[in-house]
Amino acid sequence: MAAPPAQSPGVDQVHPLSHLFHPRHAAMYAATMRRGVDHLTAALARAEGRASTGVAPAQAAKPVADVDLDAPLLDVDAALEEVTRLYLDDAVWFHEPTYAAHLNCPVVIPALLAEVFVSGVNSSLDTFDQSVGGTFIERRLVEWTAGRLGFGPGADGVFTSGGTQSNLQALLLARDHALASGADATRLRVVASADGHFSVQKAVRLLGLGDDAVVTVPVDHRRRMDVVALAATLARLAAAGDHVAAVVATAGTTDFGAVDPLPEVGALARAHGAWFHVDAAYGGGLLASTTRRHWLAGIEAADSVTIDYHKTWFQPVSSSALVVADARHLGHVTWHADYLNPRGGVHVSANQVDKSIQTTRRFDALKLWMTLRVMGADRVGEYVDTVVDLAAEVGRRLAARDDVELAADPQLSTVVWRYRPAGLSVAEADRLVPLVRAALHARGQGMVASTKVDGHAWLKLTLLNPMATADDVVGVVDALVAIATELLDDEEDVA
Ligand SMILES: *Cc1c(COP(=O)(O)O)cnc(C)c1O
Repeated sequence: MAAPPAQSPGVDQVHPLSHLFHPRHAAMYAATMRRGVDHLTAALARAEGRASTGVAPAQAAKPVADVDLDAPLLDVDAALEEVTRLYLDDAVWFHEPTYAAHLNCPVVIPALLAEVFVSGVNSSLDTFDQSVGGTFIERRLVEWTAGRLGFGPGADGVFTSGGTQSNLQALLLARDHALASGADATRLRVVASADGHFSVQKAVRLLGLGDDAVVTVPVDHRRRMDVVALAATLARLAAAGDHVAAVVATAGTTDFGAVDPLPEVGALARAHGAWFHVDAAYGGGLLASTTRRHWLAGIEAADSVTIDYHKTWFQPVSSSALVVADARHLGHVTWHADYLNPRGGVHVSANQVDKSIQTTRRFDALKLWMTLRVMGADRVGEYVDTVVDLAAEVGRRLAARDDVELAADPQLSTVVWRYRPAGLSVAEADRLVPLVRAALHARGQGMVASTKVDGHAWLKLTLLNPMATADDVVGVVDALVAIATELLDDEEDVA
């Protein structure tokens, strides 16, 4: 096909090849991107003050199902209108102060700027010959994170798609490390706290160790791994002839933000010859804090650490890393493919695929790079401190009320609580939790999560928005309390 002429935007002039990113289509590219940004900022403005419309799954599914994918619109503006109707109009906005459900953060603009390059240039970080400078930008960020962790110069790591993948890779390294030392594959165990993330269980299953290979340790009154129980568990497993491949500590549990006692857990893991993994998917943002870095003391003794930049570093999904204290352990995932990274090939020491369980891989690291270059880590740390302070303030205000109860004092940035005025039974409080949560969402008044603690239902506020105020968050609590009293009044009327 002949090369297309230079294009200016406009559907009527579209050459068949002009959809391709190419210098000759730069004007078309820039105009299209600007249209998209205009559309997004308009949607943002329309949605201001509302985290979500609360649309139900059936309502959201219908217009999507009705689209005929074999009948293209052939027009950018028409496609933007359609995507607005199918998606943007009912999107959940994590930057709204009434969004307090899951571990989703508002994202920083420098990282969004980086996304333009990440997807436009579309480097793949598996080999040097597909990414060039990108390889070294990713490496610098891994080194920098390792430095903040207190790891020595032998450390290394790799960006991953998220905490789930980082934990999987960590446990894969731990498993293979144990097997290399002669452990019996049928006796491998992974020890974590009862509040550890479910991705640990899933990883162990994927690694072929069986669901029973995960041994959980109870938590103390602050929901941290109980180290006395950990010591007893490790002694019991050793006596039974089991081999503990890894002890997983959590630095910031998903529900309570609890940071396990890292120095004690690490020392016990070491004493039993077990790999010490720290899942800091949530608490990793403390690495940027100038006032609370010491909450992670002991993390420097870990063999591996999971960090989710897409949680407490305010990065867009995906952005995570697995960092290991000893680079050599990453060799457990190295595979030499003749077509990609052959043994003894060129650039042999510069291929990130040797360290990753992925092959083609996004250049997510550039988002963090731009964030650090434009804003600096201290600013990120201030945001983290702000949301930790916010959770503490909300916790204090709820503790002072007699119509709600707290499951535990806030630690990182979650508040676990429920409506329970004097005279309301535990069973009634349990029953109300899913009802009030669903009603708040359906009314478009905000979003909160729920969880189970020791078999009972609780509401959870996950606060990752440094622009939210305690009044905003208590406003969501008040809305939930109003719904609860309404529900109880209605039931009384019926009875
Ligand atoms: C979120 C989370 C994970 C999983 O991370 P993803 O990025 O969602 O895959 C793992 N561990 C903890 C403690 C988490 O909070």
